[in-house]
Amino acid sequence: MNAVTEQSEPVYVKLAWCKGCGICYSLCPTKVLSGNDLGKCVVTAPEKCTRCRICENHCPDYAISVMGVSKS
Ligand code: SF4
Ligand code: SF4
Repeated sequence: MNAVTEQSEPVYVKLAWCKGCGICYSLCPTKVLSGNDLGKCVVTAPEKCTRCRICENHCPDYAISVMGVSKS
């Protein structure tokens, strides 16, 4: 009964590499990403992701991977 299917997420965040700078969730145009208590990136609205890769391209620590191709 495990409903978590990480593979289906459009965005994968490697939390161990995330330093909580906030760049990704500040830049995400559709507010897919948020910060947790430590400021680290969490995917809170994956259904809104357009796979624009802005987050992936701007993360200074290469902690974000966007899967698939852009819808736009
Ligand atoms: S840009 Fe990278 S290091 Fe900064 S909060 Fe986002 S995932 Fe973490
Ligand atoms: S790929 Fe674009 S829409 Fe998706 S989480 Fe990253 S910045 Fe947001």
